[in-house]
Amino acid sequence: MIKGYYHTVAERFMRYVTIDTQSNPESDQHPSTEKQKDLSNLLAAELKLIGLEDAHADKFGYVYATISSNTGKKVPVVCFCSHVDTAPDCSGNNVKPILHKNYNGKDIELPDDTTQVISKKDYPYLKEHKGHDIITASGLTLLGADDKSGVAIIMDMANYLITHPEIKHGNIKILFTPDEEVGKGTTMLDLKKLGADYAYTLDGGEAGTLEDETFSADGVRITIHGVIAHPGYAKNKLVNAIKIAGEIIDALPKEEWSPETTSKRKGFVHPVAINGIAEKATIDFIVRDFDTLELARHEERLQSIAEKVLKKHSKKATMEFKVTQQYRNMKEVLDNNPKVIAYAKQAYRHAGLKIENEPIRGGTDGSRLSFMGLPCPNLFTGMQAIHSKHEWIGVKDMEKAVEVLVNLVQVWEERSV
Ligand SMILES: [Zn+2]
Repeated sequence: MIKGYYHTVAERFMRYVTIDTQSNPESDQHPSTEKQKDLSNLLAAELKLIGLEDAHADKFGYVYATISSNTGKKVPVVCFCSHVDTAPDCSGNNVKPILHKNYNGKDIELPDDTTQVISKKDYPYLKEHKGHDIITASGLTLLGADDKSGVAIIMDMANYLITHPEIKHGNIKILFTPDEEVGKGTTMLDLKKLGADYAYTLDGGEAGTLEDETFSADGVRITIHGVIAHPGYAKNKLVNAIKIAGEIIDALPKEEWSPETTSKRKGFVHPVAINGIAEKATIDFIVRDFDTLELARHEERLQSIAEKVLKKHSKKATMEFKVTQQYRNMKEVLDNNPKVIAYAKQAYRHAGLKIENEPIRGGTDGSRLSFMGLPCPNLFTGMQAIHSKHEWIGVKDMEKAVEVLVNLVQVWEERSV
């Protein structure tokens, strides 16, 4: 908590989560659901009220705004970004946030479905919030802390900076995106219009976590062409592509090299879909590793396993092996821009936080932004048990995140000339 400042973050958060902004993976519209704009338009209007004159929401549901520089120094333009949508995994309709004042440290039974219990056993981090305020949903929906906590933190930071002009900073850009949860958060983003040099997403968990490393990711599609014949007269002719696909899956290692057998820094190959008929079948894989060079090795190994299976069959069956690049470990970009992490660490330390630097076994919009030319690690908001009815967040973590952002814009200013 920043001394002498009345934080607006919890109050804003409680309002934003009541607006349904669930995105839809089946849609090919931008945004994937029109209702996301309900929040985007509200945020643009509130930013204007705070005093950011250029704040606006565009037709795709992105919100852009600038907090203008109040220093004579030449400071790089830093952007803070979070997403307005909530995950399709769990209902986001009619969210009823509950503020548990001075949380008593006990398991929390949610009132609208008492079988939903947020327990200390499942969420040991609850213990650190005893005596502080926490916010949960009511049992029928997710809460939407992912990522409306990030949104509320950025809004409170804007409010703080505008009401405290003694805090010196360069130009700061605010960006709210739609459709992060369906992997399209950057699709219609206008980076030129945004005009930022560096960015930070606010989309992480426990206070103190600082995420600067993601998987590198490829997709692989193996297409098997069998040989089709009338099944009544198919002897020594028919080669069934579905059966070959099954054999390839069976030939994959069972004790290693899969999501279910790896953790920490180990990569994997993971079949996600099989489709086909006897004549032709496809298997889709995702390939993941922190080391981008290792991806190629995983792919070679997969290809040789598949080719071996194919060889056992008549030469008439053939196979195609196609690799598609998905995203890359943001660390490759961040290592070339060491200030971004160094300054964030300094801002965390100023706020009295112990820094947790875990790699993310997945991707973020930050990894896409980093490779689009905008180096972008991920900062904490406090969100817990995301994409579920148990989702909860501690108010003190959100306030701490605001403090980190206020520190961070000052570090960028102090280190500039
Ligand atoms: Zn998120």
